Amino acid sequence: MDYLWTPWRYQYIKNASSNKGDECIFCKIPSENNDEENLIVYRGKFNFIILNRFPYTNGHSMVVPFRHFAEFSLLKDEEGIEMFKLTKTLQRALVEVYNPEGFNIGFNQGRCAGAGVADHLHMHVVPRWTGDSNMVTIIGETRIIPEDLKTTYEKVKSSFLKILSESGE
Ligand SMILES: [Zn+2]
Repeated sequence: MDYLWTPWRYQYIKNASSNKGDECIFCKIPSENNDEENLIVYRGKFNFIILNRFPYTNGHSMVVPFRHFAEFSLLKDEEGIEMFKLTKTLQRALVEVYNPEGFNIGFNQGRCAGAGVADHLHMHVVPRWTGDSNMVTIIGETRIIPEDLKTTYEKVKSSFLKILSESGE
């Protein structure tokens, strides 16, 4: 099942090496204040939600602490509590928008474990459908994205904000 967690990392590594220097993408993106272009769905106090630019499936998102650190064990309690709250609301939004059959939610820590951006912790939230991995196995890194990211962004963001306001948090 190696392919399950790794398809995006090649893209990130390719991207990272074509960028100047070793600037961390998860530090750089929120500092640009260009959220729509950068696919930032939401900014919390300690974390932001961003769509994966090279999604494994439609709606593939990440919840990322603003603070730069690599190891899960270094996550502060207040960061972790917000991260999990945001992840729960995000999952509800993804259910509303895409009605997937399942999810992968979790961390890859370290390159050997499949982390594309190994220096900055991030949680993947990946909607799953029966058969989606077969497609990836067959086509490898050439992935078919049935929906453009702008459309995904608008749908997920509006659903997320609606659910967040309803939850009163
Ligand atoms: Zn960083």
